[in-house]
Amino acid sequence: MLNWDDYGKEEKATSAIIEKVIEPKPSVPHAEKSAQKEVQPVQQTTEKHASTIVEGSRAEAARKAVNEIDETAGNAELDEMMQNGRVQVDQKMMINCKADLNQLVPFKYDWAWQKYLDGSANHWMPQEINMTNDIVLWKSEDGLTEDERTIVKRNLGFFSTADSLVANNLVLAIYRLITNPECRQYILRQSLEEAIHTHAYQYCIESLGMDEGEIFNMYREVPCVARKASWGLKYTQEISDPDFTTGTEETDKQLLKNLIAFYCVLEGIFFYCGFTQILSMGRRNKMTGTAEQFQYILRDESMHVNFGIDVINQIKIENPHLWDDQMKSEAAQMILEGTELEIQYARDTMPRGVLGMNASMMEEYLKFIANRRLTQLGLDEEFVGVTNPFPWMSEIMDLRKEKNFFETRVTEYQVGGALNWE
Ligand code: FE
Repeated sequence: MLNWDDYGKEEKATSAIIEKVIEPKPSVPHAEKSAQKEVQPVQQTTEKHASTIVEGSRAEAARKAVNEIDETAGNAELDEMMQNGRVQVDQKMMINCKADLNQLVPFKYDWAWQKYLDGSANHWMPQEINMTNDIVLWKSEDGLTEDERTIVKRNLGFFSTADSLVANNLVLAIYRLITNPECRQYILRQSLEEAIHTHAYQYCIESLGMDEGEIFNMYREVPCVARKASWGLKYTQEISDPDFTTGTEETDKQLLKNLIAFYCVLEGIFFYCGFTQILSMGRRNKMTGTAEQFQYILRDESMHVNFGIDVINQIKIENPHLWDDQMKSEAAQMILEGTELEIQYARDTMPRGVLGMNASMMEEYLKFIANRRLTQLGLDEEFVGVTNPFPWMSEIMDLRKEKNFFETRVTEYQVGGALNWE
């Protein structure tokens, strides 16, 4: 908790930095400093006077600039869309909306605001989790098998950059193209959560004393990791050009594909093999700190997926012409490509059975998840008769809670900090 002393300390530190920047002084040995003490007051007075003169002319320039502000600037463009200059609910739209985006209310998409509140109620930080047992286990010679060590390293390698890919896609590509303030509010919350997730992986990597260069470069150097990253990156590149705008069928579909790539595939499929492996380790009382970090991350991620699916489905409702047969077929293809990449990742990270699971069980699980993503978008299931071989995963993340607005309203997220393994 903050108290007023903290503010005092902060102010002192800031002025020290400013002083250093304004007037770099050569370092003076302590004894010489005392000798110079008498002349200092004169110097300080002169400097203070000089700075007042500079500040005076700057202040005058600032006053002039403020007086010249045109408070009606931008109104003409907004007036075309708004009655009486105020936003009406039915003017709000997910994409290509011209109504004022600086006005959060009145809400149109209550589910987006509710997710912002739910995400905020689940706030956590990586340093809250005790990593002591993980450090002891990781550093002991016979603590983990080689296969288990590979799983820890590969997953920290994939996730340490994957959440950065998602964050960059949000702020550099999606944010400006989603033209609704309550959704943007959630995207800002999600962006913070992605930063916390990247922090969590870095915290694990640093705590365990891993080779940071090796781990952070896996997304370029280890083929099964690099393929997943490259698959997502191409969708960011398509629409992150500052000159890219939506408004035509082609560009609107490009944005829709980006949303499907990131929310349904990257966050909705690419995270699932790794999460299952690390959480399975935690269930076996191994790397419990790392597993707890992943558990918090998974809770956030399942909400990201739900938000993204709601956004996609809302865009479909408002722009039915975009969801034509070709788009449906491309969306299904993207989900199946993602599933195939994740199955390859499962085989690569589990050449043998480990932690009570193997690659073919993971394949079935990923097909089960793929069916779910397809149906959430209103598409047909692809894999007939697959079941969930890891029901405990559903219990941990609670797939029953993995609902979106178009299925049923979620109300169970208001739980704050504590998680348990029940
Ligand atoms: Fe995410």
